[in-house]
Amino acid sequence: MQTFQQYIGGAFEDADTTFDSRDPATGAPWAKMPAASEADVDRAVTAAEAAFFSPDWAEMTATQRGKLLMRLADLVAENAPRLAELETRDTGKIIRETSAQIAYVAEYYRYYAGLADKIEGAHLPIDKPDMEVWLRREPVGVVAAIVPWNSQLFLSAVKIAPALAAGCTVVLKASEEAPAPMLEFARIFDQAGFPPGVLNVITGGPQAGAALTSHASVAHVAFTGGPETARHIVRNSAENLASTSLELGGKSPFIVFDDADLESAVNAQVSGIFAATGQSCVAGSRLVIQKGIKAEFLQRLKEKAEAVVIGMPQDMDTEVGPLCTLRQRDHAVRLIEASLQAGARLVTGGVVPEGQGYFFPPTVLDCSDAPTAPCLSNEFFGPVLSVVDFETEAEAVEIANNTAFGLASGVFTQNLTRAHRMIRKIRAGIVWVNTYRAVSPIAPFGGHGLSGHGREGGLQAVLDYTKLKAVWLRTSDDPIPDPFVMR
Ligand code: NAD
Repeated sequence: MQTFQQYIGGAFEDADTTFDSRDPATGAPWAKMPAASEADVDRAVTAAEAAFFSPDWAEMTATQRGKLLMRLADLVAENAPRLAELETRDTGKIIRETSAQIAYVAEYYRYYAGLADKIEGAHLPIDKPDMEVWLRREPVGVVAAIVPWNSQLFLSAVKIAPALAAGCTVVLKASEEAPAPMLEFARIFDQAGFPPGVLNVITGGPQAGAALTSHASVAHVAFTGGPETARHIVRNSAENLASTSLELGGKSPFIVFDDADLESAVNAQVSGIFAATGQSCVAGSRLVIQKGIKAEFLQRLKEKAEAVVIGMPQDMDTEVGPLCTLRQRDHAVRLIEASLQAGARLVTGGVVPEGQGYFFPPTVLDCSDAPTAPCLSNEFFGPVLSVVDFETEAEAVEIANNTAFGLASGVFTQNLTRAHRMIRKIRAGIVWVNTYRAVSPIAPFGGHGLSGHGREGGLQAVLDYTKLKAVWLRTSDDPIPDPFVMR
């Protein structure tokens, strides 16, 4: 069994207790992970706070911070194959995806490296002749970053990179389900040359998470995970009135009109729901399809779903690997059963294969005659697609917006004016038109409603890690007039 260590104040150390991480492809334990105690969490926050005020970090120029982030980006790119191997081993995410995704994670660090010395304040045209007033953008302080097990290197990069670019320091809590990639990332980070304590990486479950998010020295909580956990986090952060950015789940509509390029739409739908074994917050998990093309679309989709190569995640030919945890698979099985009882029709998949590991096949449920089926409103976080048909554009909009989530959406049509109408009417943080699942460090990412608030990626995200300071400077040499009159 491999052993991993936590990273606090620039040092690697064991925790008093450990827990086993399981290989989702076999179900067998493969590594020992450090479980951060409340005292460890406190030490990590204290180290981050000390680093935040240390001259080595606080007085470092923004340009120099950018250079360190650039060095980190290079190290991530160099080590991408090793990180991908670990993420695949610990989460079951297929190597084809982890390799490509982690190589691209380096671009997120590059983007925010370049941005570090472009976070500008402002000069105000103030309404008083003897005053100069300007705004400084300053880092908020210690950031608690909490990530789920899927795409951890990516989901942590969109927090760590803007936070460090802004001059904050970070305590990152990796998911207890699969912390190996983040604990290994700490080793790579350590080589980049940041002062000790600028980033601390710990792991552990809800207890460690609660200790971190309610810590009095945390100024901002950046969270990715489920809505229920987000509620706990908001309650805990109220203790300190820390600000929050929440990237939660989705039940994203994938809308296909009868004028769409069908082959392209089917391929995008396959990728939108079966890639990452469906464990993607932006999964296009509700196919909203126009009646005239439904039969043909579902036939093509079924053929492609049944041809998907399911196998060991380490195999380059594998297209769908195991789910990360047995809990995820049990959840999918229960939700499918309840949906079938509510009248959904199984188009393909749905049956747990024999053998070891947490595998689950690509599954399609037609819910067109089962509007109350729970699969239409609950996130699977697995390779399960629910289908609803429609006749008119207005119906498509109504079905698409009939969700408490609001993260992503896809529209497939060749009709330009319709595309624009749909873009305006869909309530979601992302609209992909004739494409799906494209991301970039340059584009903001996030949702509303049960999908959370705040944006990651893009220029705006870095501002979440800053606060404004208004500076007033009197330019007159005359004595200050009447002290009892507000100026
Ligand atoms: P989760 O909410 O169970 O756990 C996420 C993290 O929160 C873990 O690190 C966990 O240890 C921690 N946590 C648990 N209880 C806590 C508490 N009381 N206080 C503080 N931290 C606590 O989510 P999960 O099951 O690991 O991941 C799946 C969820 O994440 C899905 O809902 C998915 O849609 C969402 N997700 C969202 C995005 C996005 O960008 N919007 C991306 C990926 C995943």
